[in-house]
Amino acid sequence: MAMTPARVWDAAAVLEALGGSEVALWLWEPGDDRLRLTGALGVLGLSALGAECSSAEIMALALPEDRHGVDDLLTPRDPGTKVAAQFRARGSAACVWRGEWLEEGVRAAGVVAPAARFAETPYDALTGILDRRGFLARAAERLAVAGTDDVLIVANVNRFRRLNEALGHERGDLVLAALSARLSAAFPPEAAMGRVGDDEFAVMTTADETASMALLRAALEQPLRVAGFDIFPTLSIGAARVRGGRGAPSASELLNRAVEAARTSGGGGVAEPRARTASIGALGMSRLELESDLHGAIERGEIEPFFQPVVRLATGELSGFEALARWRHRRRGLLGPESFLGLMGELGLMPTLGAHLMRAAALQLASWRNTHPAMAGLTVSVNVSTVEIDRAGLIDEVEALVRHCGLPAGALKLEITESDIMHNPDAAAGILHALRAAGAGLALDDFGTGFSSLSYLTRLPFDTLKIDRYFVRTMAANEGSTKIVRSVVDLGRALSLEVVAEGVENAVMAARVMELGCDYGQGFGYAPALSAAEAEVYLNESYADGVAPLKATS
Ligand code: C2E
Ligand code: CA
Ligand code: CA
Repeated sequence: MAMTPARVWDAAAVLEALGGSEVALWLWEPGDDRLRLTGALGVLGLSALGAECSSAEIMALALPEDRHGVDDLLTPRDPGTKVAAQFRARGSAACVWRGEWLEEGVRAAGVVAPAARFAETPYDALTGILDRRGFLARAAERLAVAGTDDVLIVANVNRFRRLNEALGHERGDLVLAALSARLSAAFPPEAAMGRVGDDEFAVMTTADETASMALLRAALEQPLRVAGFDIFPTLSIGAARVRGGRGAPSASELLNRAVEAARTSGGGGVAEPRARTASIGALGMSRLELESDLHGAIERGEIEPFFQPVVRLATGELSGFEALARWRHRRRGLLGPESFLGLMGELGLMPTLGAHLMRAAALQLASWRNTHPAMAGLTVSVNVSTVEIDRAGLIDEVEALVRHCGLPAGALKLEITESDIMHNPDAAAGILHALRAAGAGLALDDFGTGFSSLSYLTRLPFDTLKIDRYFVRTMAANEGSTKIVRSVVDLGRALSLEVVAEGVENAVMAARVMELGCDYGQGFGYAPALSAAEAEVYLNESYADGVAPLKATS
């Protein structure tokens, strides 16, 4: 037997249910120019309207670009006609209005809810701009209008997949949200803007093609900082022009044309650019431009060491930092070594750069050791390139620097890659012994990639082995990598060397390398390379609680 409806659905219960669920009911009577509302008006940003208002009042509350939607909603239709509109009241989130015309078109009624509540909105939940379907629908509307001149521009974020892998999807999502916010701010509201692929944005506008492409680039190719990471997005852009009306291509065909144009514009879409020249290209700089900038960069103090923490895996305590070169470019923002080291080498600037970075890193280390006397074991390691190892004067320079900074033996470490040693192990042995005598610590970098002559290792005065991040990253999927990590750890044990796993990106990787007997780790899971000021904060924090923070998951 049914319960009495009145007892369940009394007016108060209805209102309470509505208020609690962030929706409101609306009833529109055009004859009286009266819109009635009841429910969670505050949440929806509609409280200014009160329980009753006129069409002019709701029109005034809606953002100008949304007014056509409101108008559409309020226009009388035949009974049974469904209506839907989405618009924002000033200062609040977008709302979706849905309803139906009743009684010969004199009244319409329905619900209004935050747009996010409706799964079927044309908006992308992550970025708030149109999603692919929504964008295509909006584009189709424009294409239907005869005689309009439109341009559809597509921008693909270069190397976004790699960014996602390096930073994790959550941070990748933040980047996309930030980019779409910039996109919306850059174009007038009449332009249609959407996210049409994972890392692909589209704009359809009547403005000039060249100017719009420049505008898009200027807006999106700005450095951004996400959770402590500096990111420098670059775009591959393509455009397609179109005249609306009969004979216009379909929206999806037009979009494809623009996507194709972006793909052939270079820099993105295709396989990962690996070569150094490719990454320079992706930065949008000509080689010449980069070259002339690079010449003065060291003198102008634009190239500086950043510091990536190396931690003791078992306790999370900070053990030291690896100094990694960064270039604060006047226009391009912060650049990583892959965009300038190759060219530096070609220009013969590596020794100058190496000396500069080693000095800066050693002075920084000395200053930290002074301010944190309890961290007596703190080390900083610097990378030494192939050409520098054979450089006359390196040994004297190290000795003078260690003395000048008052560093204990081994606190300043030099990282040398395996392949650099192995092409002339006998010559290398002499230099390494002299460097050690000069007070430097020695780390064998990217270990596992050469593996040619293990017997030499026993004769070389290394104190640290660094396992290349490739093996750490592929351990989960690749039996061979696990074996290599294990044998490097065993080798390190046998020779009493410290073993550092590189590329520890999360807690799972940390646990895995620790299980295999590795003592130290370094990677994005702890921190990326930090500016000296940020590293100082990290130092103070880990000094305070003795534990470096580690992300729990990838
Ligand atoms: P490297 O010596 O193997 O340095 C570690 C690289 O791995 C750094 O890249 C670092 O940012 C990155 N990395 C750190 N943690 C993670 C992680 O969890 N996951 C992944 N995927 N990567 C991680 P960066 O700074 O771009 O340096 C690249 C290479 O450039 C270095 O490789 C080193 O060979 C060279 N380099 C950097 N600074 C200098 C320098 O001052 N002098 C010389 N000669 N070479 C340098
Ligand atoms: Ca290194
Ligand atoms: Ca390395």
